[in-house]
Amino acid sequence: MKFSWKVLVLWTLPALVIGFFFWQGTFASTPVDMTRNAANSRMTYGRFLEYLDANRISSVDFYEGGRTAIVESVDPELDNRVQRVRVDLPISAPELISKLKEKGVNFDAHPMRNDGAIWGLLGNLVFPLLLITGLFFLFRRSNNLPGGPGQAMSFGKSKARFMMEAKTGIKFDDVAGIEEAKEELQEVVTFLKQPEKFTAVGARIPKGVLLVGPPGTGKTLLAKAIAGEAGVPFFSISGSEFVEMFVGVGASRVRDLFKKAKDNAPCIVFIDEIDAVGRQRGAGIGGGNDEREQTLNQLLTEMDGFEGNTGIIIIAATNRPDVLDAALLRPGRFDRQVTVDAPDIKGRLSILAVHSRNKKLDPSVSLEAIARRTPGFTGADLSNLLNEAAILCARRRKDAITLTEIDDAVDRVVAGMEGTPLVDSKSKRLIAYHEIGHAIVGTLLKDHDPVQKVTLIPRGQAQGLTWFMPNEEQGLITRSQLKARITGALGGRAAEDVIFGRAEVTTGAGNDLQQVAGMARQMVTRFGMSDLGPLSLESQQGEVFLGRDWMSRSDYSESIASRIDSQVRGIVDECYENAKKIMRDHRIAIDRFVDLLIEKETIDGEEFRQILAEYTFVPEKPQFIPQL
Ligand code: ADP
Ligand code: MG
Ligand code: ZN
Repeated sequence: MKFSWKVLVLWTLPALVIGFFFWQGTFASTPVDMTRNAANSRMTYGRFLEYLDANRISSVDFYEGGRTAIVESVDPELDNRVQRVRVDLPISAPELISKLKEKGVNFDAHPMRNDGAIWGLLGNLVFPLLLITGLFFLFRRSNNLPGGPGQAMSFGKSKARFMMEAKTGIKFDDVAGIEEAKEELQEVVTFLKQPEKFTAVGARIPKGVLLVGPPGTGKTLLAKAIAGEAGVPFFSISGSEFVEMFVGVGASRVRDLFKKAKDNAPCIVFIDEIDAVGRQRGAGIGGGNDEREQTLNQLLTEMDGFEGNTGIIIIAATNRPDVLDAALLRPGRFDRQVTVDAPDIKGRLSILAVHSRNKKLDPSVSLEAIARRTPGFTGADLSNLLNEAAILCARRRKDAITLTEIDDAVDRVVAGMEGTPLVDSKSKRLIAYHEIGHAIVGTLLKDHDPVQKVTLIPRGQAQGLTWFMPNEEQGLITRSQLKARITGALGGRAAEDVIFGRAEVTTGAGNDLQQVAGMARQMVTRFGMSDLGPLSLESQQGEVFLGRDWMSRSDYSESIASRIDSQVRGIVDECYENAKKIMRDHRIAIDRFVDLLIEKETIDGEEFRQILAEYTFVPEKPQFIPQL
């Protein structure tokens, strides 16, 4: 977007010039168009004289000072039909007039038409006018566009970077399922509405509230609801908007924002993704980022610069509180942290209630059932789910949303759009074996989540999918559960290996293997679940680019590092052998499942367990059923 003005200039100028030629063409040299009413046919001068001699000409009209004429001729061979044709006359034909008189032909001369000249004049004027207005707008636009030539003069003055909503129109009733957070923030509303209540007893009103939680849990919504409940304006900007190419732009945006906010106090200033600007200073690869640091410093200065009772409350949102600069979290700045987590089953139920208000649900659909089916869904996922279901309902021309639409919408939200079905081929068979491999291992291991269904319908990136029912409310995970998950994830590759042989294994297991490696490594380095003993050897991974020091990542020696590697390898090898053994032991059942899956495309978990029980012992898995 940033440099689009250049493109604009480059493309608009040639367009204007071409337009100019075009206009000149149509207006300036408009030919005197006397043939407009005449027939399009032409007659030679010689033929015209012949006709004249044969008395077949009834009238002649001269145009263009006598250079052309429209002639009416009569054709006796065609029932004396009258024809109008054009004749180009030689310039020196003075005897023609006398001949016409002699033959008694009607003739008339018409003056040169002038409109051509007028259009020409207009055409000549239109272009410069167009060019001037065009250039005028171009310059005005490029001055306002960030990064345009005017930018160097008016750094960061661009007003469009933060948004102000005088009334958000959102109330606490629209936010559901995060009751604790709502209660905490209820107080902020009172601060804004009746500050005297607090200042009278000498309480300092907090300046900043930090909302911490994963994306889609309703942080933005909550901030808007506070503004809506308190009836104050809502200013919002995203942390990433502060971070610019030019040093100083971000800082000046912060100044702008706070100036506007002070003019409109009491109000809410909402800074989304504050981690983009508020990361630890001087961290990350390649040292600090001057621009970001300046912006952050400006933010801190502004927050210190106004007293708690000016009526501005800053709400910031992040899902990475661990990377924030400590100065931001000091008392007097974002001294309140409110956690906004993904909702539990009760929370999901109440969020579903909010979002189903304007949807038509079939009486057979209970919101409880949907809440049960959607562990791990955030508020945004649930709202998306109901919307997808409504779209499917409309597409299928139903009057109300039924359980079928809900099921399909869940699949779609979790795994992406349904792709085109696979054609029958060797690779379809291979994918079927891969998925059945996951499902068999998952079903036979006592500590694995039960299979919900296996499908061969491609969705999103995946060609086939095995769905498991995660056990909700499961806070702690045991070592054998982790090993079961690793074995289950290896089930796909194990099936390929055992059935088709080493040479035929495919890239389809890439994703599985990534998960396997991650889980196995964490068992060793974070959870102390290997022969290395209960040592925590690594804190969370993946922060190198997010601002923490990258040197502190491994606090162990080279020799420990190689022992970690061999422990990880040991776990994975053991699990893989186990998965392969399960494949070899259940070959007959697997072949039957694959035929069934290719025929039906989807096998339900219950049916899967029943069929498998005909061949072998299938362990019972108690499912935790959350109470509502
Ligand atoms: P975040 O800012 O945490 O990423 P948003 O507030 O932008 O999430 O949520 C996106 C949308 O999801 C909201 O507009 C709303 O429709 C829905 N949503 C999320 N959480 C909730 C909730 N707790 N209650 C009701 N709707 C929610
Ligand atoms: Mg948000
Ligand atoms: Zn797989």
